[in-house]
Amino acid sequence: MFKVRYSYLPQQFADPSEILEELRRFVPTGDFTLGKPVGEFERRFAELIGTKHAIGVGSGTDALKLGLRAVDVGYGDEVITAANTFIATVGAIAETGARPVFVDCDDTFCMNVDQIEAAITSRTKAIMPVHFTGYMTDMEKLMPIAERHGIPVVEDACQAILADIGGKRAGTWGIAGGFSLHPLKNLNVWADGGIIVTNDDAVATKLRLLRNHGLINRDEIELLGYNSRLDSVQAIVGNWLIPSTHDITKKRIANAARYDAGLGQIPQIRIPPRPRGKQVVFHLYIVFAEDRDALFKHCVDHGVEVKIHYPIPLYQQRGLAHFGYKAGDFPVTDRHTTEIISFPCDQHLEPEQIDYAIDVVRNFYRGKN
Ligand SMILES: *Cc1c(COP(=O)(O)O)cnc(C)c1O
Repeated sequence: MFKVRYSYLPQQFADPSEILEELRRFVPTGDFTLGKPVGEFERRFAELIGTKHAIGVGSGTDALKLGLRAVDVGYGDEVITAANTFIATVGAIAETGARPVFVDCDDTFCMNVDQIEAAITSRTKAIMPVHFTGYMTDMEKLMPIAERHGIPVVEDACQAILADIGGKRAGTWGIAGGFSLHPLKNLNVWADGGIIVTNDDAVATKLRLLRNHGLINRDEIELLGYNSRLDSVQAIVGNWLIPSTHDITKKRIANAARYDAGLGQIPQIRIPPRPRGKQVVFHLYIVFAEDRDALFKHCVDHGVEVKIHYPIPLYQQRGLAHFGYKAGDFPVTDRHTTEIISFPCDQHLEPEQIDYAIDVVRNFYRGKN
């Protein structure tokens, strides 16, 4: 048993009685497919993010894929994205038939937007920035570049619910933004689920068609789509949790500040930049550590369940070898894989657990100064 465990799901859903009561009422209605709870969740999610539309889909991966399809990304196109993302971003791009074109990240774990222009070609059909770990990509710099080249931006906001720059939220900068409701995400349900936000009426209409086989009514197909609907049952869980989203976010930010204050005093730990005016929502709490592998083992041995997000850069994965990238192509991403370490940062952690984790790190380096 870890003293500081990574997964908080047993605590989060320790008392499911309200959800189960809601399900008891719902099940006899038989309204399972795009039912009333889905519409309600979509309205509340759009209100939460501050967009005109939100469209519930089968997963965060599908949210990204449908977002790309909505701006006509398809076979032979290129989509620029971050080299250090989770596989789902690349999977979504590849599922459209397009090729992912990677750009290296910076120490905020997001795409280095200064390198985007060099990656644009005549085949570039979209840019998919990833607001990785809950940091925002520098959208103030990215959007003018995209606009100058006439390239639509679809945001991967799967880890960045309620992150913002100057109050403008993740998912609202591009033409559309995809979110995940996966159990490990900040706003989570009991299985897979995703949602896409947009302010564009035509894109919203297309997304609604794309998620439901392209059916405009029972008998007519407007375009070739997918079976990718948010389940009514999961929407019920989402409707129960969504009022807590602001509190979850605040707690994660407070936890990160507590870690920063403690770990920041340890010379062998480097805290990533904390830019003013940007709200980082700490889906992951990551710092850079000297002698990382030994620290990792020390933490695990002392009951702190740390993780590495991720130990092998995506572009060097065997399953992606056909994209033709090679070791050394993305030096910052590569450096991160040897320096990063993630600590639990969720809303169910006690301050004492964070202090304990900090002590464990301090003890590891003690005597090494
Ligand atoms: C979780 C995640 C996704 C995909 O979400 P799923 O709901 O698991 O399909 C996409 N991109 C990033 C960065 C993620 O973290």
